[in-house]
Amino acid sequence: MINIPKGTKDVLPSEVYLWQHVEKTARETAAGFGFREIRTPVFEHTELFLRGVGDTTDIVNKEMYTFLDKGGRSITLRPEGTAGVARAFLEGGLAGGVLPAKMYYLISAFRYERPQAGRLREFHQFGAELYGSASPYADAETIALADTFLKNLGLKAVTLKLNSIGCKHCRTEYHKALKEYFAPHLHEMCEDCRARYEKNPMRMIDCKEERCKVYTAHAPRMLDYLCNDCKAHFETVRELLDEAKIAYTIDPSIVRGLDYYSRTVFEFASAAAGAQGTVLGGGRYDTLLEQMGEKPIPAVGFAVGIERLLMVIAAENAPVPNEERPAVYLLGMDAQSRKKAYLLATQLRTENISCEVDLMERSVKAQFKYADKLGARFTVVIGESECAAGAAEVKDMKNSSSERVEFARLAQYIKERL
Ligand code: ATP
Ligand code: MG
Repeated sequence: MINIPKGTKDVLPSEVYLWQHVEKTARETAAGFGFREIRTPVFEHTELFLRGVGDTTDIVNKEMYTFLDKGGRSITLRPEGTAGVARAFLEGGLAGGVLPAKMYYLISAFRYERPQAGRLREFHQFGAELYGSASPYADAETIALADTFLKNLGLKAVTLKLNSIGCKHCRTEYHKALKEYFAPHLHEMCEDCRARYEKNPMRMIDCKEERCKVYTAHAPRMLDYLCNDCKAHFETVRELLDEAKIAYTIDPSIVRGLDYYSRTVFEFASAAAGAQGTVLGGGRYDTLLEQMGEKPIPAVGFAVGIERLLMVIAAENAPVPNEERPAVYLLGMDAQSRKKAYLLATQLRTENISCEVDLMERSVKAQFKYADKLGARFTVVIGESECAAGAAEVKDMKNSSSERVEFARLAQYIKERL
């Protein structure tokens, strides 16, 4: 047998209802905030991610699934959703339409990573993007959408961490300060950090290596270098979250792993989300479109990993709806009754009543056992005498009662009791 590729997972029919629950909650919550779905291709030109995600990120440097197609073009499976949505926003002419443009997506994404709990090579995200507003209200609204989504899933122990990483102006000062601070320790830090020191010293702040953490823990904080505009922006975001009673902690160590962020950055974390702890990450990216060669349009967004979310749902024992059961199992006791059951099922389905019949030509006893396993609300029993009488024996499994019902009245009878 050929096995599943490393870092990927099947969702079997018995567990798919959990995914559908998360997806339904995502769609309903997004709709409540006026976000509409956008769908973009699974693969894009590699260039889009080089420019859109940024060439100092781990994603671009180490994790992309890139290949040449038969036409010799460099293609990459999307490692995240934002760059593709930005491209579609521009290409679809939405930049010239009504703003803000509020969009959400439910996608699979691909990163060549070392698989572990909560870290896969194909994973899934729910994400949201808000284009066109630089106002702190847009940040607060986006964070509120993320927060409401997690609350709608019944999660309680997921905490919001907030930071501001300023704009390109105040970050220049900050980078200078970081370089001064790290210079004497650089020879003791990891290779990645030495490269980051040259290209993007702020990225050193969230290095996961123990030998680097020793130094990053006491590094200068971006919050102390914010310019007046960025400071005021951040203060208003905080005020709006306070007023909406969305709890958060300020965490100066959050800088996010993508090059396009500016000002507000945030994460929702839970101890149950695997070694990394982060379930959802987001922030403002006012320079993304500019980086992609367009005029600057401010934007803010987030993405949440669905596999990690399911780990948190399980760990918190959050309520999930039961898997849907068929309403009716129709049981034929002999050849003639089996055909009657089959025909009645087709009729019931035209009335939107879900039902199943025997497809295995099982014995009566085995059919009763199967009906039990299915958990159908009604078992409709048809035998020789029922066929002759034109009526079935309907067992209501909820209260173990049983009643004779004419075939012609069956749909009505069931509908009244569902
Ligand atoms: P991490 O620090 O864990 O590597 P990240 O910063 O790379 O996360 P983002 O690019 O911000 O993650 O993606 C948003 C969310 O997508 C993450 O918070 C996580 O829930 C999920 N995610 C990212 N990479 C993976 C992966 N390889 N497997 C499963 N989920 C992932
Ligand atoms: Mg990562």
